[in-house]
Amino acid sequence: MRILVTGGAGFIGSNLVLHLLKKDYELFIIDKLSYASNKELVDELKKNKNYHFEKADICDARILKNIFNKFKPQSVFHLAAESHVDRSIANADSFIDSNIIGTYELLKQTKNFLDNEEFNFKKDFKFIHVSTDEVYGDLLKENNLSTEDSPYKPSSPYSASKASSDFLVKAWMRTYQFPALITHCSNNYGPFQHEEKLIPSSINKILNNEKLSIYGDGKQIRDWIYVIDHVEALELLLSQGRLYETYNIGGNNQIRNIDLIHKLISLISPMLNKDIRNLENLISFVKDRPGHDLCYGLDCSKIKRELGWEPKFTLDASLEKTIDWYKTNNNL
Ligand code: NAD
Repeated sequence: MRILVTGGAGFIGSNLVLHLLKKDYELFIIDKLSYASNKELVDELKKNKNYHFEKADICDARILKNIFNKFKPQSVFHLAAESHVDRSIANADSFIDSNIIGTYELLKQTKNFLDNEEFNFKKDFKFIHVSTDEVYGDLLKENNLSTEDSPYKPSSPYSASKASSDFLVKAWMRTYQFPALITHCSNNYGPFQHEEKLIPSSINKILNNEKLSIYGDGKQIRDWIYVIDHVEALELLLSQGRLYETYNIGGNNQIRNIDLIHKLISLISPMLNKDIRNLENLISFVKDRPGHDLCYGLDCSKIKRELGWEPKFTLDASLEKTIDWYKTNNNL
């Protein structure tokens, strides 16, 4: 099966691509290769006959059109996006371009391709739009989980740009019966994530005995999912997800940021043979991020009921694997 993956050189994209290449998929990756991309992995994967790569921006209509006509994908995973909330607060331009205009261009070119080509796979075509739990905004209570029907209340320029892209996909589904579905996933962690994000950055700092700056009082709650659980859910949705639907994908691991940092310290201290108390001293609290959401959490009963999917990796064991990966791969 031929699949087009946008953003396939980023964190989740790299894990999705590695997962799909173990199966019988032929992949075409479009990625602009930003600072967040795994460029060495792209070079390595180019040796695989089922992996094709083009360095391109999804806002470029001409390139997208050529790729559709040349590769003739049977489905699309759309992951390309600017993804770091802090960067979106400092300057939202690239978020508006990639996440909104880029999604619009990709929808337009996918629709043109589907309208103009006659293929027998057309009836099975799926456009899987990978969105985030952040579009639901702050939960008022920890156990008041967001369902697929919860209203959108994005707080940051990042989540607002993702919400906008979701609304474009929803409009395309409703107006043109465009064959898409939308996923809302919680915070991912695992190999190949850029070191600016909370878990890789904290692991690197603890390993290097550097100061750990925690926003506000550190009591913000996030739900963490191991990236392999996420990509397995995405593959399942490709074969069994219902068109025009949205699916929450969560890790069932709600934890306060400060407790996550304590957990990382307790996992790393025996590896370094260092006293936990010395590592705890690295923690310092800094001024909170503006507009910082206090709590996210997802009700994932729909994907469990319909597809039998639930996360299988536990937080402690997967954090340990993640720490090992960064120790080995990050030239510390
Ligand atoms: P990432 O920042 O690690 O990777 C994004 C990739 O997209 C990068 O390789 C970048 O070069 C590429 N890209 C960005 N703009 C592009 C453009 N205009 N044209 C072509 N390529 C472009 O992000 P990630 O964490 O892997 O997230 C992937 C997707 O999953 C995003 O849509 C994000 O909103 C969503 N998501 C992420 C998380 C998470 O915890 N990381 C959770 C839920 C949803």
